[in-house]
Amino acid sequence: MMRRIGPIMIIEGANNSKVPFSRSLYIDSKDKVLIDTGADPAELRALDEEYGVELVVNTHYHPDHTLHNHLFRDTEKWINPLEFETIQSIEGIAKGNGVYQEWGPEGVEALRKHMPKEWVQNLGEISGTYQYDVEYSFSGVKVNFLHTPGHTKGYTSPYFSELGVVYVGDFDMTSFGPWYFGTDGDIDEFIASSKVLIELDAETYITGHQKGVFGRQEFIEAMDKYIGIIDQRDELIEKYVRQGLNFEELTNIGIFYPKKMLDVLILKTWERSGIRKHLQRLGFSVHGSEIQLVNK
Ligand SMILES: [Zn+2]
Repeated sequence: MMRRIGPIMIIEGANNSKVPFSRSLYIDSKDKVLIDTGADPAELRALDEEYGVELVVNTHYHPDHTLHNHLFRDTEKWINPLEFETIQSIEGIAKGNGVYQEWGPEGVEALRKHMPKEWVQNLGEISGTYQYDVEYSFSGVKVNFLHTPGHTKGYTSPYFSELGVVYVGDFDMTSFGPWYFGTDGDIDEFIASSKVLIELDAETYITGHQKGVFGRQEFIEAMDKYIGIIDQRDELIEKYVRQGLNFEELTNIGIFYPKKMLDVLILKTWERSGIRKHLQRLGFSVHGSEIQLVNK
């Protein structure tokens, strides 16, 4: 199923592009550019056969957005300049995701063992970077790779100013809420970037997961609700701290992820790392398992 907005083709991922899949964009111009590769592999192959892909651009390094980079073996692939370094090693990825912070070198070794080979290949094939805030023209289709950090440090939102279209990817407006749980994610940056996005001169916002295409007003309203989830998380976490829960107890409840999913090491890692960010924002510090109010 393909939707088109002018020269931009939207290619869906499986299951309505829900994580671990995502939506890809294809710029139908002589330059044949594909943005992110989380879409359905059969559709991506068909696209490659029918139209060709000469450049793959990744908005950031997460596996759901680089998922099928390996389908485009000899194609040039670019990522943002801040994450090119991150993807050069498993250590870099482990550090960016909170694995090192939460579990130390043992966690890094566990990730090295369990990270699917394809994911490593997807990142290993990335050959270069684009620059932020420079207008690229792909056979006349102009796009600006806006630096919109928060989800990750280097997160990029491709903005087609002449078309009034922006691919907001992981500002995905889902009921799960904002994701900034890696050590390279940041709540304040996430909020600041959300403001940058709604202030753009754009009529069409395309998200990376689930619903997909939003009109301007609809997106502004959805963003308000979406960012509001951050405050709800603050309130919930503060309530538990006031009740006297320690860090171990707090990270076993299932604030972000369902409790039963916290057996999955990477989800547990993000749960812990995310809760640390909220605690810091609320003025608490964590020492081992103990949570203390910081005197300001
Ligand atoms: Zn992501």
